[in-house]
Amino acid sequence: MPSSCRIAIVGGGLAGLAVAHALRTFGIKTEVFEVAPALGEIGAAVNVSPQAVKALQAIDLGDKIAAVATTSPGIYTRNMQTGEFLEFNDRRKNAARYGAPYYTFHRADLLDTLASGLDGSAIHLGHRLIGLEERADGTILAFANGARVEAEIVIGADGVRSVVRQALYGNDNPSYTGQMVWRALLKGADVPQDVLEPTGHIQWVGPGCHLLAYYIRGEALVNIVTQEDTDKWVEEGWSTRGDPDEMRASFPNPEPRLEKLLSLVTECSKWGLFTRPLTQNWGRGRIELIGDAAHAMRRAAALLLQCALQAHARQRRAERIDRCRRTQRPR
Ligand SMILES: Cc1cc2nc3c(=O)[nH]c(=O)nc-3n(C[C@H](O)[C@H](O)[C@H](O)COP(=O)(O)OP(=O)(O)OC[C@H]3O[C@@H](n4cnc5c(N)ncnc54)[C@H](O)[C@@H]3O)c2cc1C
Repeated sequence: MPSSCRIAIVGGGLAGLAVAHALRTFGIKTEVFEVAPALGEIGAAVNVSPQAVKALQAIDLGDKIAAVATTSPGIYTRNMQTGEFLEFNDRRKNAARYGAPYYTFHRADLLDTLASGLDGSAIHLGHRLIGLEERADGTILAFANGARVEAEIVIGADGVRSVVRQALYGNDNPSYTGQMVWRALLKGADVPQDVLEPTGHIQWVGPGCHLLAYYIRGEALVNIVTQEDTDKWVEEGWSTRGDPDEMRASFPNPEPRLEKLLSLVTECSKWGLFTRPLTQNWGRGRIELIGDAAHAMRRAAALLLQCALQAHARQRRAERIDRCRRTQRPR
């Protein structure tokens, strides 16, 4: 006999917890079902744009997210090999323009904040959805641990490889974009200050790749995230443990500050970036999809859109950076 609830959210990631929090502000109770044994994501940061910050402020999380966020004056871009200054993206100006700051978070801190206002007994960990059955008056959810839950409404927030999506639309697996990412976290105290001068948020751009390094949790940690064009993604999954030497080899002839930064990496992960074409398949009947389950996109899509809207005066600097990135990648 299945247990029952009004609204079931499958997936306790950023989208699932944000929607649970948002519905709570309207007095609507939800139950969250998450496969992981604990909430939280280790070893990665997330950049949150002013538009997203405004959305979080609108669900009464403004003060709480500000308390765990880091803000930088802006992103300072250098040539990866020569160290030459290429561009400064002034985040303070952007904050004034859009009416909210740009924040960076440790993902675990943002998830904790989203979970903080929720009723802990309504978050069901260790629940992997394996199937669902649509009925006229609701949906039966079946979990790998044997639990069955009948919900009036289901919100599928189970990420880029969504089981809810697959149940609705079949196997429209996301495809590899031709780009992969390295991620690493360093202790802030281990990174010489001049490496991240002058803003604490540096981007190095090179042939077919870029690398960003910035402080999170104040200056306690330095997050490194990269992106490179490569057809060599051979892993079965989309994220795996990486080899620091292989990571270093991806950025040949780095300028001295970048070389120093890369020399400090002792652990890293690598990610293939996957996407699927935007469709109208965002749910049907009593089932809705949100987050990556609805619209998996390239990581920098929002940023590229922002670039496209920027004033003509910035076009030339953008072109210089683009030229630098498009230089033939050494094989
Ligand atoms: C390397 C990298 C860097 C990124 N950096 C940024 C950034 O700086 N800024 C930004 O805005 N975006 C960034 N993104 C994109 C961002 O991470 C995603 O858009 C966001 O995490 C999507 O949230 P989500 O909740 O939809 O999915 P997810 O975060 O993937 O969460 C899905 C949740 O569902 C759970 N789940 C999965 N399957 C099941 C199941 N069968 N049953 C129950 N639970 C399940 C998972 O355990 C997980 O908790 C980045 C992505 C990558 C890969």
